[in-house]
Amino acid sequence: MNASTNDTGTDRRLNVLITGGAGFIGSHLADMHLQKGDSVTIVDNLSTGSLRNIAGFRKHPDLQFHKADILYWEGIDDAMHWADRVYHMAAVVGVKKVLSDPRVVMATNIAGTERIFRVASRANPDIEMIIPSSSEVYGFSGKPFFSESDDIVLRPLDHHRWIYAVSKLADEYLAMAYRKHSAAKVVVVRLFNTVGPNQTGRYGMVVPTFISQAVAGEPLTIYGNGHQARSFCDVRDTVVALDRLACNPQAQGEIVNVGSDAERSIRELAELIVERAGSSSPLRFISYADAYGEHFEDHMHRRPDIRKLHSLTGFWHHWQFNDTLDDLILRERERRAVQDHTVGV
Ligand code: UDP
Repeated sequence: MNASTNDTGTDRRLNVLITGGAGFIGSHLADMHLQKGDSVTIVDNLSTGSLRNIAGFRKHPDLQFHKADILYWEGIDDAMHWADRVYHMAAVVGVKKVLSDPRVVMATNIAGTERIFRVASRANPDIEMIIPSSSEVYGFSGKPFFSESDDIVLRPLDHHRWIYAVSKLADEYLAMAYRKHSAAKVVVVRLFNTVGPNQTGRYGMVVPTFISQAVAGEPLTIYGNGHQARSFCDVRDTVVALDRLACNPQAQGEIVNVGSDAERSIRELAELIVERAGSSSPLRFISYADAYGEHFEDHMHRRPDIRKLHSLTGFWHHWQFNDTLDDLILRERERRAVQDHTVGV
């Protein structure tokens, strides 16, 4: 395999470790690095990830897959010696998943990250690390637009939804703490809503949920009044941004928003998906209590300031949102056709 040319123009064949590499974003990172000619090792416990997500390159000679939990994986010491870069994507995500067992969120999202830092700082201080955080850490400030230097406003402890934000904030502080004592090349990325192939609606994510409903001709389930707004970035753009951040020395030690700043309300999103799918599905409004089984405070806005991302990477979005939706609608139709065919056989 030839050495790859990465986005910074340097020829460098990387050994890349991706925890959670069979998950949504992790699987796209693996695909991108294999296409560049890098060598990729995935460790994933398949709790929410799936072998289906990596089926397209599962047999690639430069891919290694380990089914293991990052909290207990025995190969971690070795991996930290040979890896040039780690994307630590193993985490519990998705509102429904988080609410269903907050204990697992704390263990995986905090202890897993701490283990990565502890072993890496011992074995390989030169390693490049991408540590994903989340727009959730901005909490409940009521602001419409979030910059990296903004205050973080978390709510009292009686709301389970903040557990995820707290776990990701702990990861950010872990990154800071370990950087104080090693030369680790860590970039913390605050990911905003990300969409694309391999994302499942099982744990609440709105775009795959609405697409599946629209294609099936079922009502689209809007939680609350649908005025809450989000901005969606295609995962195939997200992984390019993460790669560029990882190789940029200026980004090391920084916290960077990663996402799209084109915001739309959830009601507008539902109407757009119905239109693009040529569906006759109606919209159905559901209370948060019915949707999540408990009181739930939603964010009304979630739009990133991406000037820092842009200045560090020159990054601009390749995917237009309508093209992303059309692609996902097509994939959902194909998935259903295969399923129907299999059932019919
Ligand atoms: N949502 C919705 N219907 C669904 C799933 C989600 O109206 O079937 C809403 C959800 O309440 C939130 C937005 O869509 O306001 C985005 O939800 P998601 O879980 O995708 O991500 P979040 O931004 O909440 O992390």
